Amino acid sequence: MIKSLLIANRGEIARRIIRTARRLGIRTIAVHSDADTAMPFVREADEAVLIGPAAARDSYLRQDRTLDAARQTSAEAIHPGYGFLSENAEFAEAVIAKGLIWVGAPPTAIRAMGLKDAAKQRMVAANVPVTPGYLGEDQDPARLQREADAIGYPVLIKAVAGGGGKGMRKVDKASDFLAALESCRREAASSFGDDRVLIEKYILSPRHIEVQVFGDTFGNVVHLFERDCSLQRRHQKVIEEAPAPGMDAATREAVCDAAVKAAKAVDYVGAGTVEFIADAAEGLRADRIWFMEMNTRLQVEHPVTEAITGQDLVEWQIRVASGERLPLRQDELSINGWAMEARLYAENPSNNFLPSTGRLEHLHLPTSVRVDSGVEQGDEVTPHYDPMIAKLISHAPGRRQAANELARAMASVEIWPVRTNAVFLARTLRHPDFLVGAVDTGFIARHLADLVPSTEPDERVLQAAAAALLPTGAQEAWTALAGFRLNAEAYRLVSVEVDGRPYLVSLDHPELRARNGSQDVLFIDGEAWPFSPPRADHAGGGLNLTDGAVIAPMPGIVIAVSVSERERVVRGQPLVVIEAMKMEQSLSAPFDGTVAELKAISGAQVTEGSLLVRIEGDK
Ligand code: ADP
Ligand code: ADP
Ligand code: MG
Repeated sequence: MIKSLLIANRGEIARRIIRTARRLGIRTIAVHSDADTAMPFVREADEAVLIGPAAARDSYLRQDRTLDAARQTSAEAIHPGYGFLSENAEFAEAVIAKGLIWVGAPPTAIRAMGLKDAAKQRMVAANVPVTPGYLGEDQDPARLQREADAIGYPVLIKAVAGGGGKGMRKVDKASDFLAALESCRREAASSFGDDRVLIEKYILSPRHIEVQVFGDTFGNVVHLFERDCSLQRRHQKVIEEAPAPGMDAATREAVCDAAVKAAKAVDYVGAGTVEFIADAAEGLRADRIWFMEMNTRLQVEHPVTEAITGQDLVEWQIRVASGERLPLRQDELSINGWAMEARLYAENPSNNFLPSTGRLEHLHLPTSVRVDSGVEQGDEVTPHYDPMIAKLISHAPGRRQAANELARAMASVEIWPVRTNAVFLARTLRHPDFLVGAVDTGFIARHLADLVPSTEPDERVLQAAAAALLPTGAQEAWTALAGFRLNAEAYRLVSVEVDGRPYLVSLDHPELRARNGSQDVLFIDGEAWPFSPPRADHAGGGLNLTDGAVIAPMPGIVIAVSVSERERVVRGQPLVVIEAMKMEQSLSAPFDGTVAELKAISGAQVTEGSLLVRIEGDK
């Protein structure tokens, strides 16, 4: 086996490769950009080489500098991870030409599968069912339009060089075709430097089913079963699982056999994924699943396959690249339980999923599930790279359990001030349709309103924030005040500002006070809510609490006055209790200060909005 390995990648995947290499006794070398000098993967590698500035094209995409780093450190092999140079055939060739070991697919296979049209043509020749459509050389718009009309709408225009969900346009009717083609070509030219397209029948009720395959240099190819990656947003995977829900044994055999056939057709070596699109209108059926593309690398979602097969795919990659045979034969592989992965991103679902960058001042990730993360508390999420913070992976005997465990883990994520999609993921994992396996690639778009969290804090958040603002001892005071109670429902009003907005909370759960984070951020269910006592500029809104005026929130009778003129009070200290509609309300001091005006008289009737007490704040 190899003795040293340079990792031409960063973050989560670099760290994950280091973990396996270390276990195998292999020396690891990280290459990194200026922006990543302080990142965990750089620290954790045995050696690290700075290869350039933050921008990926000046560092992680620099083939020459990566090769120089390998020479400097006498690395024996290079692992490209995913993204960056992983599917770059020219780089793979350069690595091999230098006498280094390439822990990736053979350059010929990368090339064969690199362009979607050529790959599909090859699959047709190998008898693998492909998505119906047009793959021709002729790129004349009129010709493409005729082909689309013949296929029948809706159709999908795809950049032949596309990837990462980019360069795709769904077209619903003939009259939209030319405009969609033009915009697709523009995007393809700028993203991939190649504006050629193919046209596919747009599969209705589409499910993304992919098969993990592995080949060795002895000509053996096995599959490690399927994954379902139908939970997507804008053609990008969000939640992945293995096995696929509703997959019967015969269909599994058919699709996995097709994947092995596809890999053999290009003499595949190493880890690869054959992606299929299924029309799941009537469930998964062998005759309704078609080849879409092959990714000639390790995939982001490989951990779900590792979980159900009990294998380490990076170890398999390293062994195969070192010239060993595949660790297991097909008949030695089986599926154990259910695994689910969710991608935790630095993005704000409530603001159109806009990426959110900055320092991870507070970061707490769960330990109940596998967590693959490239960052630790204090690290920076920069705009230069993928905004993924972590992948959380659950593994349980059944699908529902795997979903529940992952939802619970997601709900326990605490991150601040960077915004994340944790609660969005938890909601998706708890959605009743998801739980019964009713998934397709349109699921997220269809249920967006249920999945995107509200920008308004709910009652639990307000209760917890209000309780956390009670000064020490106030809870006891609150209990003591309950002595005045005429009715069971005693509560008090606390003014609090949550996420920049003022609220008046009738606090009935003072026991929630313990949920206060280190910086007055409340973490509930994967969401983060900053809170504070109200600022002066948020007085008004009818409440007029923060300028020190404590007013009657409703008409009633003053039943207790617990302060006197000029008395010093602390924030949250009970001042007056009024009774209205058979209910008591205790009004407390909005901040520390002294009682400047005392209008409330025990036993007196007050109207809504009348001044009871005015507190003058400390200077
Ligand atoms: P797919 O399986 O549909 O190709 P993936 O989600 O696996 O999509 O990855 C999308 C693209 O972005 C791939 O090219 C992948 O290699 C790249 N990518 C994803 N996450 C990262 C990351 N953290 N760093 C670098 N590249 C990444
Ligand atoms: P990429 O290289 O960007 O990963 P793919 O060809 O793998 O491109 O397609 C990405 C996603 O687009 C798929 O996972 C699927 O959700 C959707 N998709 C692709 N082809 C079709 C199709 N013919 N019909 C419906 N949806 C499709
Ligand atoms: Mg794909």
